[in-house]
Amino acid sequence: MSKYTNNWPLAYADNQAKPCSVRDCYYPRYGISKYCKSHKSNDYRLGDPRMNRAIRESDYRGERNQVREVIEKNTEHPAVVKALNTIQGMLKEGADAFNPPRDGTSEIPAAYHLGRLHYHNIDPVEVLVRAAALLIYHYMNPHMIPSTKALTFTLGWRVLALVPMERMSDPGKGRRVYRYPKEREKRELGEYLWDRIGLLAYMIKYKAEEEQREQEERSRLARIPLE
Ligand SMILES: [Zn+2]
Repeated sequence: MSKYTNNWPLAYADNQAKPCSVRDCYYPRYGISKYCKSHKSNDYRLGDPRMNRAIRESDYRGERNQVREVIEKNTEHPAVVKALNTIQGMLKEGADAFNPPRDGTSEIPAAYHLGRLHYHNIDPVEVLVRAAALLIYHYMNPHMIPSTKALTFTLGWRVLALVPMERMSDPGKGRRVYRYPKEREKRELGEYLWDRIGLLAYMIKYKAEEEQREQEERSRLARIPLE
């Protein structure tokens, strides 16, 4: 038996005497967490203690435009077709999970919430654009989304936030409340998408970089006067 068995106050006190586990943070730990209060909150809300704010749509606007442009030019490309079919299937599965009996049994993570996307008539292209753009943003700015867990978490959340949350009545609170996806659902959906479109996102990033190199080369040449 450990000295903490049945002695939570002692476990708390001993834990809180230690510093936070995040590098260079010397605040005391909070409760039984290995992090201080603010790092614990970041870990819970964002999937990583080192992330101090959520990724916003404005953070990766450039990447979304990039992805949209490449997808529009490549609607027949097998990787694009496959990704769009996968997303279409997810939304369809979500629609089934959304309808009664709403037992939530599905192979697809966060199926119920994907049902919301389906009933808001979200085009699979929009899901692909957001997800692929976020992956590219992560490849280009790894410090902004510092771990796999934070990436999958953010990815699932950005996709589920394409449409407003469902509002439900909560008799306990006597008012209507938003029904948010669970943290686990966000992460699992993120993993599911990453597995299926990670390669395509990489191909799009490569294509965009290639075009930029060509453009730089053209402007370099244009600066050299002809004889
Ligand atoms: Zn800390």
